[in-house]
Formats: sequence, C-alpha cells, structure tokens
Amino acid sequence: MSILSGKFAVVTGAASKNGLGKATAKLFAEHGATVAILDLDQQAAEDAARDLGEQHVGLACNVTDRENCLTAIQTLIDRWGQIDILVNNAGITQPVRLLDIEPQNYDAVLDVNLRGTLYMSQAVIPHMQARHGGSIVNISSVSAQRGGGVFGGPHYSAAKAGVLGLTKATARDFAPDNIRANAVCPGFIATDITAGKMTEEMNTKVLAGIPMGRAGKADEVAGCCLFLASDLSSYVTGSEVDVNGGSLIH
Ligand code: NAD
Repeated sequence: MSILSGKFAVVTGAASKNGLGKATAKLFAEHGATVAILDLDQQAAEDAARDLGEQHVGLACNVTDRENCLTAIQTLIDRWGQIDILVNNAGITQPVRLLDIEPQNYDAVLDVNLRGTLYMSQAVIPHMQARHGGSIVNISSVSAQRGGGVFGGPHYSAAKAGVLGLTKATARDFAPDNIRANAVCPGFIATDITAGKMTEEMNTKVLAGIPMGRAGKADEVAGCCLFLASDLSSYVTGSEVDVNGGSLIH
C-alpha cells in the first residue's frame, strides 16, 4: 500500500513548473494522495493539477486573502469530504538590503510567507479538529535560521523565522487534536523563485557555503514534505527539518 493512499492533500503555491510545491504535489500523488494545487492563477493551477492525473484539483487562491482561503478549503471539503494534509508552500522573496526595505516590500513578503501560512492554517484546522487528525507542513527557509545568506533580504528572513514560530505554536496548540505541524527549512534549491535576479557572483558565494557543493533539487525538498505529511512521522511535531546540503552544520 502507498504511504498516502486514501489521503487528501492541499499544497499552496504549487503551480510553478519547477517549484517545490509542484514537486511536492507530484510526489504526494505518486504515493497515493489526491491533491489540490492552489495558486494565484486558476488556469495555471488547473494545468498543474492535470499534469498529476485526472482526480487532482487546481484552484485559484491568493493565500493573503482570508476569504479566498476559507472558500478554497470549503470547496475541497464539499468535494472530497476530508482534508488530511496542508502544505503551506506559497512564498515570494526579494534580494533587498535592510536599509532599502520599503513598506511595500515588507507587506508583500510578510503577507505571502507569514500571513498566508496563518490564514490557510486557520481555514483548515477546524476541519482537522473535527476529524481529530491532520498534518501541516510549513515551508520556512535556512534564511530564517542563519539570518539570510542565500538570496532573500532581512524581511524574508524575518517572515520565514515567523513561520518557524507559528509552526511551533500550531504544533503545541493542536497536539491534543492529533494535528501535527512541522517546518521544512530548504537551503539553496534550484527553482524559478530568484526570477533571474541571482548573479553569478552571488551563486558562487552561496555554493561555497554548502558542504555538499551543489544546489538542492525540488524533489529533495518534496521527500521531506512526504515524510512529514505521512504517518511515518506520526510522533514528529513542532520540528524543523533541514534540507540544505549541510549549510547549517554547527
Ligand atoms: P516558486 O516561485 O517557483 O513558486 C512559488 C509559488 O507561489 C508560485 O507558483 C507563485 O505563483 C505562488 N504564489 C506567490 N504568491 C502567492 C499567493 N499570494 N497565493 C498563492 N500562491 C502564491 O518558488 P519555490 O522556490 O518553489 O518556493 C516555494 C517555497 O519554498 C517558498 O515559500 C519559498 O520561500 C521557499 N523556499 C525556497 C527556497 C529555494 O531556494 N528555492 C529556499 C528556501 C525556501
């Protein structure tokens, strides 16, 4: 039997072709889950879901909008009858230095990464409580643990550090409901998130700080999400799992 058979999973920000969310959604589907891909654009979400197979669902959902989050989750509950797994993966980053962070930079980065994680969790937790079970996986970053040093600016580090705190508080508050919450902290992973803004010089510097000497692959993050989403990790909650090629060895 596949480790996620009979499970229903929601992955936010999973329409991006080479992204961590899409890789995670695909791996979940390969392991038997039925998956909903949520992203900003309805067509992109539907196309990504179709890539996984017919039973999967693509929905438009801007995670910074609480009504959007509630509506998307209710649509899925009506359709499936259950949601077992939420992966809060939607995120944006910007290589802006501390003194240059404008209010709009702060709002954009904090809203998607942190507010979005809160809103989606708020949308799904009452349902998980009613079913007495669920697993929430929040995508943080090594930037939260190291204070940057990869690509994103201090506002990104702060947002992802906020995600770590929120994850632990969620784990503590909802452990009695058998809802687990864990964070994954990817290091430098080859995706499109840098939107062409990673210079050769930045790239060389980042690689020099990685003991394994290479960028990670989206699949390698997905594997950790699969572990945390599944019953293989049934006694793991409030943890942060590093996926960084050794970038944070103390
Ligand atoms: P990506 O840019 O490929 O994908 C991010 C997705 O989020 C996109 O599909 C985008 O449309 C979606 N999105 C943006 N704003 C949204 C919103 N308001 N509502 C819903 N969806 C929204 O990026 P990625 O590299 O796959 O990143 C995925 C997650 O992993 C992010 O949270 C990112 O911060 C985190 N992360 C990435 C790395 C890395 O090196 N790639 C490292 C650490 C953490």
